[in-house]
Amino acid sequence: MSRFWNPLVKELTPYVPGEQPKLSNLVKLNTNENPYGPSPAVLAAIRAATADSLRLYPDPNADALKDKLAAYHGVQRNQVFVGNGSDEVLGLVFLALLKHADAPLLFPDITYSFYPVYCKLFGIDYQTVPLSEAMAIVPETYRRPCGGIIFPNPNAPTGIGMPLAAIEQLLREQPDVPVVVDEAYIDFGGTSAIALTQRYPNLLVVQTLSKSRSLAGLRVGFAIGHPELIEGLERVKNSFNSYPLDRLAMVGAIAAFEDDAYFQQTRQAIIASRDTLTGELAQRGFAVLPSQANFIFARHPQHDARQLAAGLRERAIIVRHFNLPRIGQYLRISIGTEAECAALLAALTAIFANC
Ligand SMILES: *Cc1c(COP(=O)(O)O)cnc(C)c1O
Repeated sequence: MSRFWNPLVKELTPYVPGEQPKLSNLVKLNTNENPYGPSPAVLAAIRAATADSLRLYPDPNADALKDKLAAYHGVQRNQVFVGNGSDEVLGLVFLALLKHADAPLLFPDITYSFYPVYCKLFGIDYQTVPLSEAMAIVPETYRRPCGGIIFPNPNAPTGIGMPLAAIEQLLREQPDVPVVVDEAYIDFGGTSAIALTQRYPNLLVVQTLSKSRSLAGLRVGFAIGHPELIEGLERVKNSFNSYPLDRLAMVGAIAAFEDDAYFQQTRQAIIASRDTLTGELAQRGFAVLPSQANFIFARHPQHDARQLAAGLRERAIIVRHFNLPRIGQYLRISIGTEAECAALLAALTAIFANC
């Protein structure tokens, strides 16, 4: 606390990201990174771009990357916005589209914990809408006056996906407010709402290269929606930072979308490991929520979640525990390689044998 701080800074409760341990011998299942490395073509493209041209500013509009994303998703360049990770894209979305003086923003009571942090930073009034008993988003519960709606699909940290028909119902019921779908985990089994952006000018879909494209370290995210939504985002972005994406990030991201074979192979491997791990945990007595993401959310009726997380940590495995209402007895476990999943199961067997 310093007397030099702006008064708002004293009031902030910043987001706390999952731990990035300095030790390298840990099995890291706590931040939903991809256990497989990026495509070799991505690394080659970044190496090739590591050249004298780094003295020059990158393209502030990232046109080459936008063209690649537009072609991949079947939209026009002016329907694509890019940013330094989807967290930055989301931050600009909150500022440009979700701040309205007359009505609160709505999002689920259990969801990505960055949303309330952006609300505080930008002075956005919000209401949380409870998930069902089964931890699902219920479209009817969003039938109330609001200035906007945001939710992840699949939701985080539950992993539960929402059918496209339910999203469309929500869009039909709320045609006059922006609806933002955060699809950070969509490539692990959900159905993207990008196609709906052609018919619903109030829909914005946000995605990231951090999870399904194994590029959390490169920091690339994007949004797709009606050109007017994109223009609003560009206005805010160009009032803050003209160059959020550097030259290496742009060429790496383009190369990632050109190597579809690697993308399909790694995401299928993760989906298969998730389904195997779900069965193995269920056999050990865990209640596992049905996941369409690269993580699972599970609780054990006989074992306290915080103690389980501590026991795993003693055995060099880190998972995420949220000390929050409704989910304090759950662990969020990222899907690792087959060997990492096996190490997790062996550690749980050892912990259960001790108590
Ligand atoms: C991981 C995650 C993000 C942020 O991803 P980055 O692109 O790495 O900033 C956004 N939303 C949700 C729900 C996430 O889980």
